[in-house]
Amino acid sequence: MERVLKALRQIVGTDQAIRVDEPMSRHTTFGVGGPADIFIDAAADELKDILNLLSEEKFPFTVIGNGSNLLVSDKGIRGAVICIGKRMSGIEVRDGDGVADISAASGALLPIVARRACENGLTGLEFATQIPGTIGGAVYMNAGAFGGDMSDSVVSVTAVDMNGTEKKYTADQIGFDYRTSIFSKNKEIITGAVLHLRRDDPEQIKARAAAIREKREKSQPVGKRSAGSTFRKLGDGDTPEAMTPAWKLVQEAGMGDARVGGACVSPKHSGFVINDGEATASDIYNLISQIIEQVKLKTGVTLEPEVKIIGTF
Ligand SMILES: Cc1cc2nc3c(=O)[nH]c(=O)nc-3n(C[C@H](O)[C@H](O)[C@H](O)COP(=O)(O)OP(=O)(O)OC[C@H]3O[C@@H](n4cnc5c(N)ncnc54)[C@H](O)[C@@H]3O)c2cc1C
Repeated sequence: MERVLKALRQIVGTDQAIRVDEPMSRHTTFGVGGPADIFIDAAADELKDILNLLSEEKFPFTVIGNGSNLLVSDKGIRGAVICIGKRMSGIEVRDGDGVADISAASGALLPIVARRACENGLTGLEFATQIPGTIGGAVYMNAGAFGGDMSDSVVSVTAVDMNGTEKKYTADQIGFDYRTSIFSKNKEIITGAVLHLRRDDPEQIKARAAAIREKREKSQPVGKRSAGSTFRKLGDGDTPEAMTPAWKLVQEAGMGDARVGGACVSPKHSGFVINDGEATASDIYNLISQIIEQVKLKTGVTLEPEVKIIGTF
């Protein structure tokens, strides 16, 4: 590890961008997770060298964005964590006739990109104003809410493969589907995306975003530590809205007020497991496991976590 660390420090100019034994609780919205052996806050021009080094050294690594869809074990993450965040967060608006493209680096935060769209009178990202992910994480997950998702506006994505080779994907090559994309199968790092948005009256865009925010605040545990919806919806509906929401099954199974340690099912929305105080990752994991078990027992349905579980439990 010392050799890898020394070489990484030569690649990454900024001292604070490489940290040893970095608590992952600082990088997840659940606020839990033990230490990553090496944490790298990566910049675009360093990625190729970082990937080459880690693959030469056969040093395992995990890619994260803003950690808003992650449950990281209390034991932490062995190897390196490559965080695509602040150091890769440029946003550029390119005007067209009645439309415009927003080109965002993958570490740009979705709510900031959505706000830039709104300020520029561009519609299509109103759904995203309160989704606390990065553009990379949102493309990876095809993040969406209230009738919209990333597939509506993303026209191209750039990525690097494990050898640091740059790749470009057009919309039809991204394999967008309900909360997934080709990047869940390809082990590649998304470096940026271009979003194609239509012009509209900024006041109307603001009003639509505010209406969505209000709906969210009424129905979801906004302000509590979570990773958004804990479970995937079920069924083959054409749209997420036509699928069966997990919260119904959680309630049917009598798990609407379940708790393990500091983790509980949100009293406001049974589809959210929240860290209600001093939860450990194990509390959250054990609660998720108990819910899956009880839902299977009482309804015959197997719930699948939407949250990505990292490390050993
Ligand atoms: C309060 C709250 C509300 C939420 N509401 C919604 C919602 O309405 N709709 C919704 O869809 N989600 C929602 N989420 C979940 C989450 O915000 C999204 O899934 C988001 O897209 C995750 O982005 P991230 O950058 O945090 O990714 P992370 O959580 O860091 O990672 C998620 C996955 O993406 C991969 N990944 C991340 N960045 C990259 C990259 N650059 N290249 C390759 N792989 C990458 C990771 O390896 C991991 O597998 C919510 C979460 C919270 C906490």
